Amino acid sequence: MVDSYDVAVVGGGPAGGSAAAAAARAGASVVLLERAGLPRYKTCGGGLIGPTLGALPGAPPVRATVTRASFTLRGGRAVERSEPEPLLFTAARTELDHWLAREAVAAGAELRTGCQVTGVDDGPEHAVVTTDDGVLHARTVVAADGTSSRLARAVGVRLSRVDLGLELELDAGPLTEAWADRIHLDWGPLPGSYGWVFPKGDSLTVGVITAKGRPAETRRYLADLVDQQGLDGLRVLHDSGHLTRCRAPGSPLGRGRVVLAGDAAGLLEPWTREGISFAVRSGIAAGTAAAAGATGLQQRYAAGVADLVEEMAAGETCLRAFERRPAAFHALIGRTPVGWRQFVRLTRGDTTLARALTHRSVRLGLGVLGAGFAG
Ligand SMILES: Cc1cc2nc3c(=O)[nH]c(=O)nc-3n(C[C@H](O)[C@H](O)[C@H](O)COP(=O)(O)OP(=O)(O)OC[C@H]3O[C@@H](n4cnc5c(N)ncnc54)[C@H](O)[C@@H]3O)c2cc1C
Repeated sequence: MVDSYDVAVVGGGPAGGSAAAAAARAGASVVLLERAGLPRYKTCGGGLIGPTLGALPGAPPVRATVTRASFTLRGGRAVERSEPEPLLFTAARTELDHWLAREAVAAGAELRTGCQVTGVDDGPEHAVVTTDDGVLHARTVVAADGTSSRLARAVGVRLSRVDLGLELELDAGPLTEAWADRIHLDWGPLPGSYGWVFPKGDSLTVGVITAKGRPAETRRYLADLVDQQGLDGLRVLHDSGHLTRCRAPGSPLGRGRVVLAGDAAGLLEPWTREGISFAVRSGIAAGTAAAAGATGLQQRYAAGVADLVEEMAAGETCLRAFERRPAAFHALIGRTPVGWRQFVRLTRGDTTLARALTHRSVRLGLGVLGAGFAG
């Protein structure tokens, strides 16, 4: 006897956990297949912005509430800003992803960990999902298997951009208090690059991201950031790297009985490389569409992620301007009230990048600073 489900979800990150919970809540029988054991480590700043919190099925485990931010341009003099209300929150991905998987189970999904999917074959009645633990059948499949997604390759996803993020997870030790409610962002020396320090309670995540293909310079940038922020000497808990990727416009979001969510689909904000909210929101859209069956699946899902696709286009525009003139972004966000206000509204989810870019003062400010947008 082959196990049979309405929906099989591949990957237990924020996209897969959200998809499984959404599909189970919609009344489908769901299996969530994750190749690792949970909890598992994922290289990530763990920054949670308003759109993520608004989409999650409840209150996630949070490590820090951020009210202060400092900014530097290529390690130069810092500008500091603060707000009475939280700008964003941070989570440890070990905890966040495990919590989401448990939410999916609470909603009725079956969770199988240590179960790697090796192939999906479409059939007239169901998809045949092959794993290293045997075969199962599903009417629809949500592929949420991240940046190395084999299912995305099978679907034929096209990418416009791949970035490499390098991170150190540090034992915060004596710096725990000083960083408890504060983030740091550095607009970096490589085109489109930036670095960050994010607090996670008793640990700090320091990381950098830039276009893939310059590993030595990327590593040098990370070492310089650690040095500039006075973090050398802290005990290293994790030293890792991971890719992010952005879909090309018009890239397929699925095929037949399969839809792709999160990093697998290349759904990610191109400028900040914020991906958790894109994973959660596309996961919910995918799970909801998959629960309603294979007929019309692709159309339902495309409609469900249309706003994310639009946000990605705004992010691309922003990234191109940022690549040309990072100093303009530094000046706008760090030194002008309108730039800071828009940054705060973005992190809280009170506006979208698409809307922020149409703000007259933002366009004017970036234009004056030499990083105006075309059109
Ligand atoms: C350095 C760095 C820092 C980042 N910081 C932030 C941040 O601060 N905030 C933010 O919003 N975003 C951040 N991102 C982006 C964010 O981490 C990703 O966009 C997000 O993890 C995407 O979630 P996902 O569920 O699509 O994929 P993942 O989280 O990668 O989950 C995919 C899951 O699928 C599993 N899997 C893979 N293949 C198979 C298979 N064949 N069978 C079964 N399971 C499989 C994997 O084990 C994994 O658990 C960062 C990214 C990087 C690289």
